[in-house]
Amino acid sequence: TIRTRFAPSPTGYLHVGGARTALFSWLYARKHGGEFILRIEDTDLERSSAESVNAILEGMTWLGLEYDEGPFYQTQRFDRYKEVIQQLMDQGDAYYCYCSKQELDEMREQQRANKQKPRYDGRCRHRTEAKPGVDPVIRFKNPIEGSVIVKDVIRGDVEFKNTELDDLIIARPDGTPTYNLTVVVDDMDMKLTHVIRGDDHLNNSPRQINLYRALGAEPPVFAHVPMILGDDGARLSKRHGAVSVMSYRDEGYLPEALLNYLVRLGWSHGDQEVFSVDEMTQLFDIEDVNKAASSFNTEKLLWLNQQYIKNSTSEHVAHHLSWHMGQLGIDPAATGPALKDVVSIQQDRAKTLVEMAANSRFFYVEVTDYDEKAANKNLNEKSLPLLEDMLTRLTAVADWQAEPVHTEVKACADANEVGMGKVAQPIRVAITGNTVSPSLDVTLALLGRERTLSAISKAIG
Ligand code: GLU
Repeated sequence: TIRTRFAPSPTGYLHVGGARTALFSWLYARKHGGEFILRIEDTDLERSSAESVNAILEGMTWLGLEYDEGPFYQTQRFDRYKEVIQQLMDQGDAYYCYCSKQELDEMREQQRANKQKPRYDGRCRHRTEAKPGVDPVIRFKNPIEGSVIVKDVIRGDVEFKNTELDDLIIARPDGTPTYNLTVVVDDMDMKLTHVIRGDDHLNNSPRQINLYRALGAEPPVFAHVPMILGDDGARLSKRHGAVSVMSYRDEGYLPEALLNYLVRLGWSHGDQEVFSVDEMTQLFDIEDVNKAASSFNTEKLLWLNQQYIKNSTSEHVAHHLSWHMGQLGIDPAATGPALKDVVSIQQDRAKTLVEMAANSRFFYVEVTDYDEKAANKNLNEKSLPLLEDMLTRLTAVADWQAEPVHTEVKACADANEVGMGKVAQPIRVAITGNTVSPSLDVTLALLGRERTLSAISKAIG
C-alpha cells in the first residue's frame, strides 16, 4: 500500500506552501487507494505550541484533507527515539561528542583559513574517555567515502558526496533527539512509502538515507516539491499578502477554489484550469510535478473562486457563507429568507463570500442608515415622488413574485418617462442602504412584501 504523510512543525499557522505539500501527498495516497498520515513534528519545544497544532488541524479540516492515521505527535515518541539512538550507539554507528562551542568555532575558523568548507571533522569519533562536567551530544557516524544518490521522482537523481555530509547530531546534550533522527525513525516505523515534502529538505535527504541504511531499512521514495514564489520572484512570504490557509477562508474563498489553485502550482493537465477534487485525484501524479518553482497569482485564485461560487450548489455556498454571516453577527437561520435562496440570486456575480455576506446583510437586518452619497443621489426631491408612486404600485401587487414586481417597476418608469434605473436605484437604497444588490425584482421577491413596503415607507420619511 502507498503510504504518504504530512509532517508539519507546529510553529505557526498552516501556510499555503505546507497546504500544497499536504495536498500533493493526500492526492497521491487517494489516487492509489493508499493511506495518508498526519504527523505533528513538535520536538522543538520552544517554537511549538498547542495553538499552532490547532491552527494546522483547523486548516486541514477546512480544506477537507482528511487523514487516515494520526495526528501522531513526536513528543509522545521520545522513548522510541532513545531506543534507536541507543541501537546506533551499540552498533558503533554513533558516538558521544564533547566538543565545546568554542572548540567547534576554532575548528571552522581554521577550515575557512585553509579554504575548506566548514564541517565537523569527526574528531570525537576516536575519543576514548568522557570529558568531566560536559553533557555530550551524540553524533551519527556518516560514511566517509562514496556518495549517496537521492532518487527524487520530481528532480531525478541528485548525488551527494559523503565527504560533504558531516557527522550529524542526533541527540542534544539533554538527550532529546534532533529532526533528522526523528523523521527517519517515524517514516520507518510508520511504514511510509513516499516522502513528499518541500525542497528545503532536499539537503537532509542524503543524511536521512545514510541513517536508514545504518538501521537496516529501505529508504522511501522521495519527492521534493519546489517552492512557491511571490509575484516579485522572491519566496512567498507574509510580505506578499495572505499566506495562511485560514486567512483565505476569512477573505471569502471556498476551500475547493484554494485546493484547485494549489494543485495547479507546479502541476498541470493540458490547459485545463478547473479541477474538481475527484478529477484531481484521478489525474494528479507526483511524477508530473514541475521542477521549477511556481509563482502565486492572486488574480487567478480570485477567478477560480468566482467559478466555484458560480458553479457550486447554492446549498454548498450557503454552508460556507453562513460562517461569514456569523462574522457579521447575523444568524441567517433565525430570521429572513433561506440563505441558499439569498445565495442563488448572487452566485453569478460574486467574487468572494465576504462580498456576498456584505451584500446579503439587508435580508436579515433592517437598514437603519443610508450611505450618504447613495442617499443624496437617490433619495432627493426628484426621486422621492417616484418612490411614492412605487409604494402605491407595490402595495397593490397581489402575487408577490419577481415578475409582477418587475412589471410595476417598468410601468412606473414608463409612466414617469424615466429609465428603469431611476426607479430601481432609490428602491435599492431604501432596502439596502446602498446602490448594490442583485437584480431588483428577485431581491424584492425574496425580501418579502412586508419588509419591502416598510423599507420604502421609511425612506420616503
Ligand atoms: N517538519 C518539517 C517541516 O515542517 C517537515 C519534515 C518532513 O517533511 O520531512 O518543515
